[in-house]
Amino acid sequence: MAQVQTVTGPVEASELGETLIHEHLMSRDEAILVQFPHMGTVREDPIEHVTSPGAEDVAAEFMAAAVQRGVKTVVEPSCMFLGRDVALMKRVSEKTGIQIVPCTGIYSYDHLPIPLISRDADQIADLFVHDIEQGIQGTDIKAAFLKCAADEPGVTENVEKVHRAVARASLRTGVPIMAHSRPASDTAPRQIEIFAEEGVDLNKVQIAHCGDSPDADYIESLIEKGVWAGLDRYGIEMYLPFDQRIAAHLALLERGYANRIFVSADSCATIDWFPSETVEQLAGGGAVDDWTIKIVHDKVLPALREGGMTEEQEHTMLHENPVSWLTA
Ligand SMILES: [Zn+2]
Repeated sequence: MAQVQTVTGPVEASELGETLIHEHLMSRDEAILVQFPHMGTVREDPIEHVTSPGAEDVAAEFMAAAVQRGVKTVVEPSCMFLGRDVALMKRVSEKTGIQIVPCTGIYSYDHLPIPLISRDADQIADLFVHDIEQGIQGTDIKAAFLKCAADEPGVTENVEKVHRAVARASLRTGVPIMAHSRPASDTAPRQIEIFAEEGVDLNKVQIAHCGDSPDADYIESLIEKGVWAGLDRYGIEMYLPFDQRIAAHLALLERGYANRIFVSADSCATIDWFPSETVEQLAGGGAVDDWTIKIVHDKVLPALREGGMTEEQEHTMLHENPVSWLTA
């Protein structure tokens, strides 16, 4: 069987075990981190956790909680602009025993720094291929997949360039793609179209955040194009309340799509996106503490089981699909 890259080296795909497909050890803006390190992150000490030692402790706590719940592997889609730090990922992996699958790519809704505006899609693809073949951030840790994003501004010129760069790096290396989408802006069809135009096998493409839509028909229409769908933001009530996420999820299971969907929380052990006094907005009136890596096992799986999910469907989503997508 094929191997999958983790931060502690390649593992046999059969060794991934129970896998959460979309969880972040941290999420932070690199420029803020360097220029305004006093700005603070959500959760815990605002100053200390911007720097690696504090954030690392929280990340290790979160990963330990996942291990306790039976998780063996976490797919970590932090790339440029999300504060990717593979050295930290490796330390957390060694500390907790969790396997962490890292990526390369650019998470931007439109902005690109000048050095990337002045380069074309092929030159940006070269940067990604380096991370996949040589290693990330001066280490020998290799990226297992590619990441890009489209959100409220839609597929802008810059976003399209990143998607084409990701597609070309995938074609050159064979690694799969995860694309952040925004159902409320219907970004996914155009994202998928670009990958198809570039000649990417859509079985390699995972559209993240499909589960922000309450509409199972919408999610089904994407799956029917040949991609994987992430129902991966449980706990982010602001984008869609829990019960509506569960209802769409159960509808897709009933329609026979267990083998095309993922369940995850898109949790961030620490995040600097929001002022801590307004983070409650994210929880949308729900409990802020619900949006952690623990929610999948503590709330989501019990609710899905109660709604009729079979053991086989659960195994397919958490064990088989990650292997199928990562080795597609
Ligand atoms: Zn994410």
